[in-house]
Amino acid sequence: ARPGTADLLEDLNPAQREAVTHAGGPLLVVAGAGSGKTRVLTRRIAYLLGQRGVHPGEIMAITFTNKAAAEMRERVAALVGKRANAMWVSTFHSMCVRILRREAKTLDMSSSFSIYDSDDTKRLITLVARDLDIDPKKYAARTLAVHISNLKNELVDPDEAASKAANDLERRVAEVYTEYQRRLASANAFDFDDLIMRTVSLLQAFPDVAEYYRRRFRHVLVDEYQDTNHAQYTLVRVLAGTEATDTGIEPAELCVVGDADQSIYAFRGATIRNIEEFERDFPNAHTILLEQNYRSTQTILSAANAVIARNPNRRAKRLWTDSGDGEKIVGYVSDNDHDEAAFVAGEIDSLAEKGEADYSDVAVFYRTNNQSRVFEEIFIRLGLPYKVVGGVRFYERREVRDMIAYLRVLANPDDTVSLRRILNVPKRGIGDRAEAVVATHAERERISFWAALRDAVEDKVALLNPRSAKAITGFVTLLDELQEMASSGTEVHDLLEAVLERTGYRAELEESDDPQDASRVENLTELVTVAREFAEFTAEVTNDENAELVLDDGVPAPGSLPAFLERVSLVADADSIPAADGGEEGDGGAGVVTLMTVHTAKGLEYPVVFCTGWEDGVFPHMRALGDPAELAEERRLAYVAITRARQRLYVSRALTRSAWGQPQMNPASRFLDELPPDLVDWRRLEPSSPGFGNFGSSSGSSSGPRAATTWGRRSSTSSTSSSSPFGKGWKETVALKLDVGDRVSHDKYGLGTVISCDGIGPRATATIDFGASGKVRLMLIGSVPMVKL
Ligand code: ATP
Ligand code: MG
Repeated sequence: ARPGTADLLEDLNPAQREAVTHAGGPLLVVAGAGSGKTRVLTRRIAYLLGQRGVHPGEIMAITFTNKAAAEMRERVAALVGKRANAMWVSTFHSMCVRILRREAKTLDMSSSFSIYDSDDTKRLITLVARDLDIDPKKYAARTLAVHISNLKNELVDPDEAASKAANDLERRVAEVYTEYQRRLASANAFDFDDLIMRTVSLLQAFPDVAEYYRRRFRHVLVDEYQDTNHAQYTLVRVLAGTEATDTGIEPAELCVVGDADQSIYAFRGATIRNIEEFERDFPNAHTILLEQNYRSTQTILSAANAVIARNPNRRAKRLWTDSGDGEKIVGYVSDNDHDEAAFVAGEIDSLAEKGEADYSDVAVFYRTNNQSRVFEEIFIRLGLPYKVVGGVRFYERREVRDMIAYLRVLANPDDTVSLRRILNVPKRGIGDRAEAVVATHAERERISFWAALRDAVEDKVALLNPRSAKAITGFVTLLDELQEMASSGTEVHDLLEAVLERTGYRAELEESDDPQDASRVENLTELVTVAREFAEFTAEVTNDENAELVLDDGVPAPGSLPAFLERVSLVADADSIPAADGGEEGDGGAGVVTLMTVHTAKGLEYPVVFCTGWEDGVFPHMRALGDPAELAEERRLAYVAITRARQRLYVSRALTRSAWGQPQMNPASRFLDELPPDLVDWRRLEPSSPGFGNFGSSSGSSSGPRAATTWGRRSSTSSTSSSSPFGKGWKETVALKLDVGDRVSHDKYGLGTVISCDGIGPRATATIDFGASGKVRLMLIGSVPMVKL
């Protein structure tokens, strides 16, 4: 039975109800974590369909991950049935791919275009920079890529970039950008940022195209609005048609939800401005605040509020819950990162034993992916079922990328980056020189690399030696055969098998002595399995009674090669998060513990959350220590981390951590200091093992977070080599020898006096009084940005 209005609104509070039923002008729902923003969005869609007679095809909803999109679709389907399938519920990127596939011709592209990820992008930029004689030492491809990405997020096209360029770097960037776009176009490819930027420019440049989508989508809904960047913001405006007054089409109803305190993607150009100035951008906007939190205990909420309250220039929010205080937060200081992981594992074990939590109730968060390794080691040792989300992703592995490159070339032979990637993989006698000769020919004739290879077969490429020409002929013939298979409808997994077989790629790995190559073979087998499952899954969907609703324009045929490639290109870390409801079949129902970065955890909730590595230099990240804007972003990240927890929250840190090969001593995270002392039960404050000198002893036997953090507050740490991950300014001064009373000058803290020295050799540390910057404990080995005066 479908729920009626009463059911749809019943378990909502008045403010939520208002947001669900609001009709007419643009609506902004701003509220803190766990106040039901996502629930409101889902419910609003169900209400539109069930009560306002809106057709599913008129709805476009944008979420932050593909997984969130799938969940939202499922929830709406549970409320209104299969009609939900005709909605567009997707990420910004997937939505744009869909529009671009449909409109490719208008942009002079083919609908079988490739999508370049950051690795492809870097490859192409490297090629372009080389051709433009740009010194890679002066401007690395990475730097150029970041600048171009920023320009795209700001919707600055190459011409504008060139005319605005004010210094050498900007001029070089503009030059590379221009050529890079040209090459993307001739490769029939878009990069990630293009997906958004080109969709915006398409809609702006072709009013009839824009009109089509405006007539179609009468409701545009956006979750996590605080993380939209300028390009995405503009896209929303253009799609909703809120500024098009001359078309005679009423603007779509726009509903965005978000929380400025949870904006954590500034590095991708996200700007809080979009949420803060919504009312100015959309003059007839209505704003609704949600203040009741339904997720967390009062203790967790108070902790989150105390931390975020330290950020300057924010609008204070009232957030309350009636769920009671609940458990205290558990704090733990360990000697090192292994002990920290052991504590986490032990705690999870005992919660499970006591029946207080299933494994799937638990999430472990860290700041960066490389921190997952120690957890994995101990979880494996103890047999704790877990899943790491993110990290070096399956699709980033070399052998997988090689195969994807083959498939891409079969779908889109103009995809030059992929084509050049596989040109001599496995080795077939087409060397760098031959590649360069073909590339030059392509440039000169203004044809694609693929067309130039064909010319080589026909002996039309000057300066190509006969051996290379023969090798190229073999390669082109092979691709022609495979392409024949692809276009005659061979399924993707069979196609993959054929590629592995006929190229000799698998044979080469199988014959190798390198144990890594054995695991490469396994990964390739896995890829074939993924493709097979994809085919089976899409076959199911196609047989679905409502299939015609699913098969919309802009979507490649189910199970097809383009559909598979699209799926692979747009897969994100968060898409592989295990189900929260007891896990997969056959695991006894207890599921697995989920390990992930805080960024990936956005929007999620878990009964039990471990926040690990809360150390200055880890979280907040080293990069943020001297930069107020970055520090504010880290604090928002801490707020996101804390507010994922429903019942139990753990915070921990390690006194030393083996990052980049050598132990590194980290002071307590300032965020620990910011937790109200009475909310935290410090299980352990003192290091137990000898060898830490008087570390921590200054805290005496008192308890509370202060005791754990009195020493070393704001101190910095050393790194191990001259290729410091902390960037320039870190001088190489191996084993600085200091005595009490010595005067030093530190790059960041300024002038100071040594007040005590501890430890010897790699453990040598000094506590230095930097006056206004406070007392800081520093390691004396490695790259210390400090000199003795
Ligand atoms: P975040 O800012 O983290 O994205 P959110 O504001 O989107 O959080 P939701 O995830 O929608 O919050 O809701 C948090 C939890 O509270 C969910 O478990 C949701 O089901 C529950 N919830 C929301 N509103 C209500 C309500 N009126 N009654 C009971 N539970 C609710
Ligand atoms: Mg949400």
